[in-house]
Amino acid sequence: MSKHAVKKTGIIERFREYLPVTDKTPIVSLNEGNTPLIPAEALPAELGLKNVRIYYKFEGLNPTGSFKDRGMTMAISKAVEAGSKAVMCASTGNTSASAAAYATRCGLKCYVLIPEGKIAKGKLLQAFRYGAKTLMIRGNFDQALELVKEVTGDGKITLVNSINPYRIEGQKTAAFEIVDDLGDAPEYHAIPVGNAGNITAYWKGYKEYKKAGKSGTLPQMLGFQAAGSAPIVLGHPVAKPETIATAIRIGNPASWQGAVAARDESGGLIDMVTDEEITKAYRFLAEREGVFAEPASAAPVAGVIRLAQRNYFKEGSRIVITLTGAGLKDPDFALSFNDPVYTIEADLDAVKEAVGS
Ligand SMILES: *Cc1c(COP(=O)(O)O)cnc(C)c1O
Repeated sequence: MSKHAVKKTGIIERFREYLPVTDKTPIVSLNEGNTPLIPAEALPAELGLKNVRIYYKFEGLNPTGSFKDRGMTMAISKAVEAGSKAVMCASTGNTSASAAAYATRCGLKCYVLIPEGKIAKGKLLQAFRYGAKTLMIRGNFDQALELVKEVTGDGKITLVNSINPYRIEGQKTAAFEIVDDLGDAPEYHAIPVGNAGNITAYWKGYKEYKKAGKSGTLPQMLGFQAAGSAPIVLGHPVAKPETIATAIRIGNPASWQGAVAARDESGGLIDMVTDEEITKAYRFLAEREGVFAEPASAAPVAGVIRLAQRNYFKEGSRIVITLTGAGLKDPDFALSFNDPVYTIEADLDAVKEAVGS
């Protein structure tokens, strides 16, 4: 190997011994994972938390801009190993972006089913650019997933939604990275809950890493749904889920049981936050922390704010919040705040006047 050979750094290479792969598995990777754990500064100050540390696990810095890449490198690698020629998913956007990228990288066909009109533009354009065949259905995510299950039922096309167990396997590696960075598990882990695959995956990851002796404790899992799409909090499916956080606009989560198990085994909770709270947290993250994440990622930030106001967090504890996707994914939402635009003449006096100097 030359001195300048680039190391393979994807999650399968890094965590091979914890994943269901063999030497024969063809690894399809875009060097996903290894995302930063960014210390929060403005948030603990704003909440008056002097002795509690908060970190953002910023999954928006994955190759296609969301945590879905961790699961997709596994699902697509295993699909190729099994001889599959095509993959399919239902998606609120990020799964389709990720599936399309990893599929095209290894020559698989990719079909995505998306709820018409309810997908953020950045995600839609990714499906197009990575060359997926994109089908808009006149229905919501839950209906799209039911259709995908039926179409892939005979096994000719591989389903790559998170009910594909390899997705969960890949996604659990985010918990491994957090423990590697902190030296132990945090006391609390806050995360948005949509289809509930990710909370299920993190809990699996934390448990496996503890069993392997990498951590001494387990976190409380704190899941947050949007108030208009909160089936787990309400205890029944929601027929017409609504929220501005389109990535968690899901009324009947596929991994419902996994989320409930993560909550109960960890002594945590699953709660809901309003779109107004999500919007406030979304703006706070970008405007005060300098971290631009998409609306769904702000749900657990809103949840942590709520809990802090109730003095929920123990002195001396650490909270990790997963920021699941990048802010650029949803430009329409980002531009919906009537930000002042100053158009001025191209001359020095005009600029000076505008900046007040
Ligand atoms: C998929 C997704 C979620 C929800 O994750 P689940 O595993 O479906 O609970 C949250 N945020 C973003 C940005 C996502 O892409």
